[in-house]
Amino acid sequence: MSYFKHPIDNRLARYDHLIVHCTATKGSQDEVDAAWVDRVHKEKGWSGCGYHAVITRAGEVQTRDLGFNARPYNRQGAHVGGCGKEWNARSMGVSLAGGLNENSDPENNFTQEQFNALEAFIDEFLEVHPNPVTVKIMGHRDLIRITRSSPKACPCFEVSTFLSERNITMEDEDSDPDGQPSPLSPETHKVKAGDTLWDISRQYGVTVAWLKAKNNLEDDKIYPDQVLLL
Ligand SMILES: [Zn+2]
Repeated sequence: MSYFKHPIDNRLARYDHLIVHCTATKGSQDEVDAAWVDRVHKEKGWSGCGYHAVITRAGEVQTRDLGFNARPYNRQGAHVGGCGKEWNARSMGVSLAGGLNENSDPENNFTQEQFNALEAFIDEFLEVHPNPVTVKIMGHRDLIRITRSSPKACPCFEVSTFLSERNITMEDEDSDPDGQPSPLSPETHKVKAGDTLWDISRQYGVTVAWLKAKNNLEDDKIYPDQVLLL
């Protein structure tokens, strides 16, 4: 199975990020595929499916090269505009169908077939990319954290953990001295006496809303020695 037409694909040269999303649909919605997303995104007034690849619940990677209604690789996607306009220009978007439970709350409910397909897609993406050493792979929520945009759970799992479990490594100038690439491991802050959420948000350049969402905080109360995810 090949998701790209070319052994070295110059259409990918402009993308230095691969962003992993979920469609934020229920795990029971087996019908969610590129055509489904295309329809929904058109209803939002977009030109069509905003992702370059959609991975169905059954683990089928649907790309334009394979004849599906996903965004062509040579056209900018529409998936990370909320992080700043430039991000759609430099990012490929791949989306896994699912991510919500029956109450429409975020849930990591992806199938093994989807994770295997994601691994295969990423492997080939890195193989055919003209300059793979420049590429960073992360979840939508990781990009949100970096760009300090409004919090979202997407894609409802830690992409950095997924990458390290599957031994997918990216070259990274922030590599550890022992040569291991440093994936975007979750950072934490241990609360000191007198800390407020506002102080911590300023310290790390995130919003209070982000901290509350990330740590499931009902209100602004935090306690010394509490470990907060950033
Ligand atoms: Zn997303």
